[in-house]
Formats: sequence, structure tokens, C-alpha cells
Amino acid sequence: MDPQRQLLSAKDIFVHFPVKAAGLGGRPRRVSAVNGVSFEVYRGETLGLVGESGCGKTTLGRAIMRIGHGMVSGRIDFDGREISSLGNSAFRPLRKEMQMIFQDPFGSLNPRLTVGQMLGEVLAVHRIAKGEAARKRILELLDTVGLNREYANRYPHEFSGGQRQRLGIARALAVNPKFIICDEPVSALDVSIQSQIINLLKDLQRDFGLTYLFIAHDLSVVEYISDRVAVMYLGKIVEIAPAEDLYSNPKHPYTQALLSAIPVPEPDGSRERILLKGDLPGPMNVPPGCGFHPRCPVAMPECSRKEPCLLPQGGNGDHQVSCLLYERCEDAVACCSV
Ligand code: SF4
Repeated sequence: MDPQRQLLSAKDIFVHFPVKAAGLGGRPRRVSAVNGVSFEVYRGETLGLVGESGCGKTTLGRAIMRIGHGMVSGRIDFDGREISSLGNSAFRPLRKEMQMIFQDPFGSLNPRLTVGQMLGEVLAVHRIAKGEAARKRILELLDTVGLNREYANRYPHEFSGGQRQRLGIARALAVNPKFIICDEPVSALDVSIQSQIINLLKDLQRDFGLTYLFIAHDLSVVEYISDRVAVMYLGKIVEIAPAEDLYSNPKHPYTQALLSAIPVPEPDGSRERILLKGDLPGPMNVPPGCGFHPRCPVAMPECSRKEPCLLPQGGNGDHQVSCLLYERCEDAVACCSV
């Protein structure tokens, strides 16, 4: 892959959280919410990141932005520069280039500031504009996200959920970022509002050349906005592929089960639903071997002993799967634990 094409590269990312010792004399432990994840995000694309709640996708996004509480290890490169070893003060200027949009826009907006004050604060902190220039920029941002200019004098509680999400987007855009992590940006919104926000994000991507990591659990939304999609399960990426390829030819049994649950819009259309056994195990109880084996409908005896790795499957290598069904003996030498 041409390194010029990559905006962000994450290699072998782990995010650990300490866990208190159970009872007197118990030893403190730690759990891994993200377990050795590697991926790239290409300039100008949207990489969708999907999986059930608790699979580690939000933790991964927060680890990239350094706003989580976990201990992060691994290497992250952004725009041709290694950033994972930077101290906090060296990392601070990068916050202008990397922004995040949150699921709960209300929780991420200061209730005591008007929209104008909130956006003005962002412009001042990042030394982008002040005074009349800041006022102009604030009005321009409101236009860009489709909000009335008069809303600059209103407080967050005066807006609907969709309008608040537009404010969250305006705040992210205020610093002219290159890369935005969208963390479940439409999950809390009504379906009709969801499509407006998704279309706004697509328009902004086209107009400003933005690159997105789009985190969501709704596979239909992810299909609509993403160029490529990565599927996470128990802190690992189990499949990654161009969106069209993944949705038409899912290879991992977990991806197949997720896609089988998407409702078919045609009245006579039907799809055989693959029902998974049990719930997603917690990060304290990761099964040995393939983490998916207790729920996998096609598990084999070796699946509980051997951990599969993410390997390219045919073609030009852009469809990668982590499943023993697809592994050949020579692949095992490269990276698998037996
Ligand atoms: Fe299922 Fe085995 Fe593949 Fe895991 S490695 S997804 S258990 S077939």
C-alpha cells in the first residue's frame, strides 16, 4: 500500500484497564478492551467500524484521540508521522487535525454557553480567530451545518437532538480538521433525522476532503456511508473489506450472522437469519482460541485451541478475514498462536 494514501495507521493497538482485586489477598488484574488491532484509514475515505455494544469499537476511537482512561500500547501514525510516543503537549496541536463527534451531543456541549460562545471558545483556544473574524467564522459554520444564523445566541437545551448533532459537527469543523472519528453519531436520533445527518456528513466529506472513521452498530447506516468496513468482535477486527465486497460476500461467520439480521426492504424479500447462541462474553472472560467459538455456528474442534489471525483472502488482498476456515498451513507460520 502506498504510504502517501494512508492518513492514519494503527498497528497492534491494545487498550488495557486495571481491575480491582477480588477479595482480600486477591491480585489486581487488567482486562483488554482492545486486543491487538491493526488497520489503516486512507485519505478521503470513510472506514466503518461495526460490532455489538461492548466489542471495543468506541474504546479504540477514544484511544486514537487520547481521551479514554485505558492504558494504550501499539503504534499510531498520522499523516506520515509517528504520534503514539508523543507527550501530551506535543500531541496537543494534533487535536486541530483530528476531531471527534460523539453519540450524545448534549453531553458534549457546555449547557452554560450559547452556541456562539461555545464555537468562539474553540476558535480562541486553537488560536484560529477572535473578535469580528471569529464572529464571521461562527456564522459560516452555522451555514455549513444547515443551522439558522440566529441560533448563535441560543443554549444547547433549546435545540432538538438532530440540531444538537449539527452543533457537534460544527464544533468539530471549527478547527478545519483532516480526520474525524464519528462515534455512533446517529444512534440516538430518529430514523428520518439519521438520514439528514448522514447526508450532511457525506456532503462535508466531499466539500472539505475529510476522512472519517465511522463507528456504529447499525449495519445499514454503515453500508450507506462507508467505503470500507471493519467488523470487531471482543476487541479484535475479525473481517475488513471494501463495503460492497463485505456486504455481498461476507466471509467471517460473525459478519454473516450480523448481515443476516438486517431487515430486507422488499415485501417478498427474505433472508435466512443466522441466530447466534448466547451473548457477547465480557473482556474478563475471553474464550481461548478463536474468541467467537462458543457462539460460532460452524466452529471446529481446533477453534477452541488455536487463535486465527487476520489474513488476506484472494484478489488484491483488501478483503481480510480472521477465521480458521480460511487459513492454510503456510499462513500459520506467519502469525498464529497454536
Ligand atoms: Fe468459527 Fe472457528 Fe472461524 Fe472462529 S475460527 S469464526 S470458531 S470457524
